[in-house]
Amino acid sequence: MIHKLIFKLGTKRRNPSLLPYYDFLKQSEKKSYEELLQYQFEKLKDFLVFAESYSIYYKKLFENIGFDPKTMTTLADLEKLPIISKNDLIKHSKEIQSTFAFNKLLYSETSGTSGQPLTMYRNEEWDSHNRATMFRGYSWHGVQPWDRNGYFWGYNFSFKQRIKTQALDFLQNRFRIFNYNDDSIIRFTKKLKKTKYIHGYSSMIYEVAKRVNQLGLDGAFNLKMIKGTSEKIYPSYQNEVQKAFGKKIISEYGAAESGIIAFECKQGSMHLNMEGVILEEVDGEAVVTNLLSKSFPIIRYKLGDYIKLAPQDYKCNCGMNAPVLLEIEGRVGKKVIGKVNNYPSLTFYYVFKNLVLNHDVTLNYQAVQDVPGEILLKIEQEFNEENHKFLLVEIKKYFGSDIDFTIQYGEKLHAMEGKLKDFITVLD
Ligand SMILES: [Zn+2]
Repeated sequence: MIHKLIFKLGTKRRNPSLLPYYDFLKQSEKKSYEELLQYQFEKLKDFLVFAESYSIYYKKLFENIGFDPKTMTTLADLEKLPIISKNDLIKHSKEIQSTFAFNKLLYSETSGTSGQPLTMYRNEEWDSHNRATMFRGYSWHGVQPWDRNGYFWGYNFSFKQRIKTQALDFLQNRFRIFNYNDDSIIRFTKKLKKTKYIHGYSSMIYEVAKRVNQLGLDGAFNLKMIKGTSEKIYPSYQNEVQKAFGKKIISEYGAAESGIIAFECKQGSMHLNMEGVILEEVDGEAVVTNLLSKSFPIIRYKLGDYIKLAPQDYKCNCGMNAPVLLEIEGRVGKKVIGKVNNYPSLTFYYVFKNLVLNHDVTLNYQAVQDVPGEILLKIEQEFNEENHKFLLVEIKKYFGSDIDFTIQYGEKLHAMEGKLKDFITVLD
């Protein structure tokens, strides 16, 4: 097991606190809900005291609102703190960054909505504990961190970048698909015979699955896990992926700032990572506190996703007691502009969800707006008169006659360069 050895040596050097924390998590997942809450409370208090001591931004903020983390008595005290947006994180990043002298810091950059990126430095424990959380999720599906894996990549690489990437991939026992032409798909699929899991954007996994099915490629794989990240996993993807690769896509939910928020278990429930994250649902939106983010405290951060948590008494059959995230409904997106009113882009999600619930019709879509009051709706499936009628009914429920729709069927939605967008607008 050369790859196990490489993993263990690499981890020891780069992420020394990973394995001990992994062992802790495997014990912790057996805890009762009350025990988990107690752990969370203690961790939160420590974390906020640390933030007050070493982050200029939070020291000032706590002073201004008269908040003293040392006197906290319950988890609910967290709600006394204001909710912070990505733009605020970007604007105040220098003051938020901790002044504590960490042994090791890792640079991290994520894109912002206004074009300016969010840059931060993450301490070793943050990075390692987050990886350990991911590997705990893998363990629920019988996957080891060093197992051979195939990765769906969505960006064009230069030749130089590819060579560098391939070297890094070797260390992680990983190969990836760079192009989405038939030759690449066939080559990728051949390699899957000796692969334990595949992962990437769910829309890309879906696109490749469709092609695998169209080409009639041999699907006798023995994959233990197909993991979708960074994107909503639409129910319509699952049949195609199941047919092509023999398993459904499971969800890992999180972001660079938040860390892993939830991971799907064998029973199909997305369990919250209570050891590392506090997730609140505020007006339907995800608000997250990352308990590992000591070097750049992320506290009550509005992630920009609409979510739905399961009721408190919901029990998953897998036996774990961490609460369950029922659904990630979609991004808090841009506005759809009507002739009179504006609508959240999530409205399309409801239109197409109703289409499934009320009429048992599944359509994949992409909405494009260039002019107020007009929408071009691209549908992947071919035209069908009855389905078309149902679609018009559902559209009318939400938009009335405020928007004129042009609907085109048999459209290719995915450019295979990054995430799949369900709403594209030049307005707003
Ligand atoms: Zn479960």
